[in-house]
Amino acid sequence: MEDSRAEEDDEYCRKLRESMIEDQIIARGVRDRRVIEAMKSIPRHLFVPVSPIERAYSDTPLPIGEGQTISQPYMVAWMTELLRLEGDEKVLEVGTGSGYQAAILAKLSREVYTIERVKSLAETARERLDKLGIENVHVVIGDGSAGLPEYAPYDRIIVTAGTPRIPPALVEQLAEGGRLVIPVGSSSLQMLTVLKKKNGKIYKKEEGSCVFVPLVGVQGWKPEEFF
Ligand code: SAH
Repeated sequence: MEDSRAEEDDEYCRKLRESMIEDQIIARGVRDRRVIEAMKSIPRHLFVPVSPIERAYSDTPLPIGEGQTISQPYMVAWMTELLRLEGDEKVLEVGTGSGYQAAILAKLSREVYTIERVKSLAETARERLDKLGIENVHVVIGDGSAGLPEYAPYDRIIVTAGTPRIPPALVEQLAEGGRLVIPVGSSSLQMLTVLKKKNGKIYKKEEGSCVFVPLVGVQGWKPEEFF
């Protein structure tokens, strides 16, 4: 299915992306040109197993299997803008899911490590990224609530699952001058939170509410806490 979809990334899909960016992303205030260009260039429909193809560009999160979802396009744009990527960063993403956010990050930074706890999702994401020739993303299978200490520190960390509290491991693995973007709150509603590390000090800012699937792991939700 994905091969025939690749052929469909023609003029029509480019138009779908342009409307998505205009109506959902720029209309809501995202201004970072690099983020907008990256989202124009990545064929979102190749990451979402839904039909018809137009649905992949709709203003909503969508199921990707295993009870998980790909974030709404605006949420991807908003979180990516909050990371303030300039192009030379090493980035950690926790929650690979479909691999779409990782593909966007790959366009905007030097190197991306993305960690996913569900093996089948991680493997599918890796295949999709390979097919698109994206070479600066490393997909790792594991519990990212404790970060990925092997390759730390990271200039940016983005968590695309909701957590009851900010995992201390992620703060530790953030480089000096770094930024962490993470949804913090209950299992049904979170606050998108940005944490900055400057001269060894931590600064925190709350940007607005959001809803994500739970970050399940040693420094996130314990399975018995929300089932
Ligand atoms: N960024 C994704 C959407 C992520 S949905 C995209 O672009 O499609 C959240 C993902 O986080 C789910 O795939 C879920 O399995 C994963 N997840 C939840 N807890 C995790 C953990 N502790 N470590 C790694 N991944 C986790």
